[in-house]
Amino acid sequence: MNDAGVEGVGSRRYILREVSRALTRTGGFLTNFTHTLNPYVGCAFGSGHGCPFCYVRMLPVAKAYPGLWGSWVIAKINLAKVLAAELDVLYQSGEIQSARIFMASSTDPYQGIERELKLTRGALIEFLRRTPRKVLVQTRSPLIERDLDVLRALKDSVIVSLTLETDDENVRRALTPTSPSVARRLATARRLKAAGVYVQIAVAPMLPNNPERFAKLVADVADRVVIDTYFGDGANGARSRRLGIEELYRRLGYEDPMDPRAAHSLLDAMAAYLGSQRVLFGQSGFNAI
Ligand code: SF4
Repeated sequence: MNDAGVEGVGSRRYILREVSRALTRTGGFLTNFTHTLNPYVGCAFGSGHGCPFCYVRMLPVAKAYPGLWGSWVIAKINLAKVLAAELDVLYQSGEIQSARIFMASSTDPYQGIERELKLTRGALIEFLRRTPRKVLVQTRSPLIERDLDVLRALKDSVIVSLTLETDDENVRRALTPTSPSVARRLATARRLKAAGVYVQIAVAPMLPNNPERFAKLVADVADRVVIDTYFGDGANGARSRRLGIEELYRRLGYEDPMDPRAAHSLLDAMAAYLGSQRVLFGQSGFNAI
């Protein structure tokens, strides 16, 4: 790997890196996917320290660059070229027809710098040329609207999974303040769905919410919803506990984040408004394609 440059914006560092591989064979949580694809490593959504509930900072990927998780982003500047070659290999071997690609597993593919670099857009365009069975694009960013033309062209080979952890703007401000607002993300979902793109809302991790209001909001803008709690942190809640999430909720006056009744309430409300077929949960939900 070669670093082609480092740029700073505010307290963040952007590292432009050449890579020799694009796709990674999956293992662990994403049992129903064959590959993951991360155009970026790091995160610029988390106000320089990451969201307080973010367990990714405890994973090996957080050590890909010195400094706090949330203060740097590595951009794989030659991603499209490397991906093109790898997709050609999958095409020639016939594997492309069964390839199920999750973009992106540890880092949002629509970091702010994507506006200029267009690495994620470049990957989507490569998928048009060599189309896998399914590509799931996981993001919290309205920037994905820019790529509506390519997403539409991918037709039913693509699922857009938009993270929306709560319907409560006060909760969002308290727990993930630099993420796009609830209203803005709902507007993105609505626009994608209206354009014929299959939209999943990912309530993960589920933050304090008003179940009925949340379900009503989601029912109109999404094809389905998947819900996960802090128990889905890859260590059955232990990583979230180590991050001090229980103490943080106490300080903010929220209910116990580890109480399973909150998830049941939201699941029931979502099922009432969307129908149980459109409501998924946990690891199996994330692996439904
Ligand atoms: S936006 Fe996602 S990856 Fe970034 S700090 Fe928040 S939870 Fe972690």
